[in-house]
Amino acid sequence: VLDLAHVVAHPDTVKRNLAERNFPFPADQVDHLRAMELEAAELRKDLQRARERRNAVSSSPKGAADATNARAEAARVKKLVKELEPRLAGLTKSIQALALQLPNVSHPDVPVGGEERARLVKTLGPALPSSSTQDPPADPARDHLALSSPANLGWTDFPSSSLTTGSSWPLLLNEAALLELALTNYAMSVALSRGFTPALTPDVVRADVSERCGFRPRDGDAQQTYFLSDGESTSSLCLAGTAEIPLVGMSAAQTFRADDLPLKHVALGRAFRAEAGARGADSRGLYRVHQFSKVEMVVVCAEDQSDTLLEELRGIQEEILSGLGLSLRVLDMPTEELGASAHRKYDIEAWMPGRGKWGELSSASNCTDYQSRRLGIRYRPSSSSPAASPSSAPSTSTDRPAPPPKLAYAHTLNGTAAAIPRLIVALLENGAVLEPGAGGKVSRVRLPAVLRPFWLGRQGGTER
Ligand code: AMP
Repeated sequence: VLDLAHVVAHPDTVKRNLAERNFPFPADQVDHLRAMELEAAELRKDLQRARERRNAVSSSPKGAADATNARAEAARVKKLVKELEPRLAGLTKSIQALALQLPNVSHPDVPVGGEERARLVKTLGPALPSSSTQDPPADPARDHLALSSPANLGWTDFPSSSLTTGSSWPLLLNEAALLELALTNYAMSVALSRGFTPALTPDVVRADVSERCGFRPRDGDAQQTYFLSDGESTSSLCLAGTAEIPLVGMSAAQTFRADDLPLKHVALGRAFRAEAGARGADSRGLYRVHQFSKVEMVVVCAEDQSDTLLEELRGIQEEILSGLGLSLRVLDMPTEELGASAHRKYDIEAWMPGRGKWGELSSASNCTDYQSRRLGIRYRPSSSSPAASPSSAPSTSTDRPAPPPKLAYAHTLNGTAAAIPRLIVALLENGAVLEPGAGGKVSRVRLPAVLRPFWLGRQGGTER
């Protein structure tokens, strides 16, 4: 299922990819994986030969003279098959367990390195009031936590939600609650207008499906994942970190017709993230929380469609976020920021004046066949497609029809349509109109006109 031929043929490329992504998979484990796969290949050949021999012995006509020899040979071959089968099964299990932990390979155009190597693709929306070389300093009067507090707008109540649940579990009140509903439906409406099918997904998923999507709830991402428990032991279920998991999981173990692809779904889900280890300014208020609503797009497509569809996902994100009137920048993310599953990823960030920083609002990733190999998502390429096997080339013989093309692994992509709390941070820090004088009291918040059709409350002087 996993692309072990690549590990066997190009171990140094695999190691370089790991180093470029700064991925926690030791290089010597690549050699170990390769050695196990080579051993498994030998075992498969031995087993094949032994099975053929067993069939030959059992079907050969036996004269009385060599009946004893034949029985002995049959018993020997049967014993050999019985020995080889569990050895191969055990080895295959170890290979799969180790290979599952490998990351995807990076697109050749992805910049190599850490966050600082992100490539600026473009900026969108109003220009920042500053020189082109320096971002403006933070404006403490526009800090979203102060603006949204019970003493000011009353949009959040962290003191109360800390008592009922804990810190970083936000309680949205008043216009913030309406803003979540409006943003959700606005983002959904844009995705629907681009041909996406709406979905509401379960927020609880199997840990192994999450792992096959590239999250590692049992290991590296354990600090990100909340597991369910029956009170005594941990179950195999966990809270979804993103609706990407149920949306991709939906296609597991399925074979699609090429003509039925791409599948495009958009879902509203709650994302749960333990965010252990996250500290400092970025975990204040709504910026980094443990539970948030997120509208997520997922695409399942043929392999020759995924590069174009990544651009399409980015285009939809640009449309949604530009409509909100924010100052944005689009980044082509570098290798160390790709996680396990992405081949290429674009992030869109907005300027947040209270934080005095750009803050990530969305990402769009092409996961190529990484998730589909792990989840068994296949399609039958049409015979004209490059994914069709060479064996499907038109036959030279006029009377023999060409065999159907071999199955191929689908490609999967995901993209944020709206991650609500950070959108509220960006809209509030940019749109708050402060009363003159000190005190930082908000007189009103200018909200984008695109939200008007989705606004359930009284329309005030809030549009811009
Ligand atoms: P991801 O699924 O990690 O690519 O995240 C998608 C989007 O969700 C990000 O671009 C952020 O806008 C937002 N996000 C991620 N983690 C958090 C969090 N802990 N709290 C609030 N928003 C988040």
